[in-house]
Amino acid sequence: MSDNLHTRISSVELNDVITRYPRSIGRNAVLGTHGTGPTAPAVTISTIDGATGWGLLGGRCDDPGSLIGKRVDEIFDLGVGVLDPATLWADFALHDLAGILTGQSVHTILGDHGGREISTYDGSIYFDDLDPLDAPRGIDVVLENVQDGWDDGHRAFKIKIGRGFTWMGEREGFQRDVEVVRAVHDAFPSARLLVDGNNGFSVEAAINFLESVADVGLFWFEEPFNEHRNGLERLRDWRRSTGGEVLIADGEYRPDVDEVVRFAEAGLVDVLLMDVVGFGLTPWRALAAKLGGSGIKISPHAWGLPIKTCYAGQMAVGLADVITVEGVRGQTDGVEGGYAVVDGMLTVPDTPGFGLRVV
Ligand SMILES: [Mg+2]
Repeated sequence: MSDNLHTRISSVELNDVITRYPRSIGRNAVLGTHGTGPTAPAVTISTIDGATGWGLLGGRCDDPGSLIGKRVDEIFDLGVGVLDPATLWADFALHDLAGILTGQSVHTILGDHGGREISTYDGSIYFDDLDPLDAPRGIDVVLENVQDGWDDGHRAFKIKIGRGFTWMGEREGFQRDVEVVRAVHDAFPSARLLVDGNNGFSVEAAINFLESVADVGLFWFEEPFNEHRNGLERLRDWRRSTGGEVLIADGEYRPDVDEVVRFAEAGLVDVLLMDVVGFGLTPWRALAAKLGGSGIKISPHAWGLPIKTCYAGQMAVGLADVITVEGVRGQTDGVEGGYAVVDGMLTVPDTPGFGLRVV
């Protein structure tokens, strides 16, 4: 099958993909409004035989033409991914192209080590209660946002917390965070709830927060504070002393990957979150193979683009140990694919490559 990768690249084109969220998304602990959807760079690679693959740009690309004339199997291996780190900008486009050339989905290329369906969560529950500035809408709008995700098939929701870090007084913000989580739990008692602090908590405040919502049964606490061993140890000791089961998820924001992996190996981080695109599919493949069997879970960060949810879904089916996938809701202009969220579960297509058609 790898003989099919013997063909040569004839063109490489950069293009943009435009995302449209279902609504304007508000602030988190550190960033202002996230707006109605970003434009992101992508790359389309074609071969002399007329096959085409495309994907989001996986990093800086100074010279797209450098791939023209190369054989696909000179730069890509089905068992590894991209062979030269300098070509990681083409990581997703080359996985897509390799799938199309060999008639396989990306999840099959990755080994089909995961489950066929994967749980997903709606990652769009931000601080919309604080907007607009002149007439904040309060907690009701957060509940409306959760209902909207529920109507779209989601049964798990990641709630942004840390209002006291930038936008409200420390005590007032903490209190609002607690009220929001409690209100969502009361209104949607069967929903799985996750929280994301965007590193806006002290260690003490993180523990206080978990104690304040102990009865909610949170699934995970993402990035409570900038990860450091002492803080993570105190959090782990607190969890042990209470018998709590909340998972600690980290590694999204500017991770020192080796260090975060060491924290995970020491039982201080349960779920590794490096970004789907920022870290990259080829590096994730290598890391997942290294972690295999260790019990460390992964959930590549996908926020920002629905296409990243599709990529993370393929990784979940393909790689072992993806615990859940971040669902980014919205439309991508001119792109269709057989991805669906039903009753909280994401299904991914078996069509070649990522199965994302440009229409
Ligand atoms: Mg996050």
